[in-house]
Amino acid sequence: MNYPQIILNKGKEFSMQRKHPWVFSGAIAKKDATLQDGDLVEVNSNKNEFLGIGYYSGGGSISVRIISFEKTIIDEHFWFEKISKAWKYRQHLNILTENTNVCRLFFGEGDGVPGLILDYYAGHVVVQAHSWGVYLQKDNIVAAIKRALGDSLKSIYDKSAETLSKHFAGKTENGFLFGSGEEIIVKENGHLFKIDFINGQKTGFFIDQRDNRKLLAEYSKDKTVLNTFSYTGGFSVYAAVAGANKVHSVDVSAPAIALCDKNIELNKCKNHESFAIDTFDFLKDKKDVYDVIVLDPPAFAKSRDAKHHAVIGYKRLNTMAMKLIKANGIIFTFSCSGVVDKMLFYNTVISAALEAGRNIKVLHYLYQPADHPITPFFSEGEYLKGMVLWVE
Ligand code: SAH
Repeated sequence: MNYPQIILNKGKEFSMQRKHPWVFSGAIAKKDATLQDGDLVEVNSNKNEFLGIGYYSGGGSISVRIISFEKTIIDEHFWFEKISKAWKYRQHLNILTENTNVCRLFFGEGDGVPGLILDYYAGHVVVQAHSWGVYLQKDNIVAAIKRALGDSLKSIYDKSAETLSKHFAGKTENGFLFGSGEEIIVKENGHLFKIDFINGQKTGFFIDQRDNRKLLAEYSKDKTVLNTFSYTGGFSVYAAVAGANKVHSVDVSAPAIALCDKNIELNKCKNHESFAIDTFDFLKDKKDVYDVIVLDPPAFAKSRDAKHHAVIGYKRLNTMAMKLIKANGIIFTFSCSGVVDKMLFYNTVISAALEAGRNIKVLHYLYQPADHPITPFFSEGEYLKGMVLWVE
């Protein structure tokens, strides 16, 4: 099959030859004037060498996102190869075990398709297309998921109305594409969580903190732990189960706090209290109460332009926590803003310590887990970073 061709300007082929999957609008020399958003296209160099196949998006700065660096046909078989490869990778790594039945099954560029996110919740798969080009492949994607997962698949739920741009979101509706599911309870490292992917934020759960929650458990026994930006209480449950004296969860969203309480109950913990309030307000008068504090705010910067404000936000939050934590306390601090890289985050946290007047030691550097793979071709995929700090 021949897809419409896009020709790049001279010298603009190098990034694709290094398997970077984004083609910026400024790199394009020639394209068909009739191209529509979501159309599959073949990208060629100025010398007419084949570079890859991707889907076109008009308007934005990224015009094509590449889904294959080989000449191929984008059909159900193509999607099956991609999705079954991603599924096998998770199985090789033993991410799904007797104690864990939740993971990210497909992570956009990290698994070879920009714009496609699949999360796996005990047999239920939540699909989020971040681009119209991926959304248009929905039928093939659904068929491929069914074939790759076989009998273990219980349902497929499309939640793309949240991730597509406004213009396209209006053309879709969230809903089940296969099977159904209610009251889904998953296990993560033996801890139970109720997942509400229909009403919850993102696909219902922040799967990327699995390993970091496990580490928090190691520091929680007999401690008074504060989990800020707690969402459905991932960190809180681990701390409470690990024998914390007391765990406090803080989130500005009342529905998130309600789910957090439910998860605490599911795990039969009694040492927990929750607060539906802004973290910055909550922290104001809490000096010398906590031994361990978790800071896991939402992405303060979603774009490069917002980077400066994000740094100010991270510094303010970390300074507040460092000022009020007990002596010899421990802070788990995170940033999930892709544009704030690990060095910038490190420097921001160090500068917060200087401002708070506390001596710190870095006990661990933390990252996203292996089911959110980072490849050498796409360093932009590295978004979650964190540190565990000892605060004297
Ligand atoms: N740590 C969580 C994920 C955090 S997501 C986990 O492991 O699951 C970020 C959360 O911050 C969301 O639940 C959002 O409701 C909450 N939030 C955003 N702004 C906030 C604020 N100013 N104060 C408290 N919570 C906030």
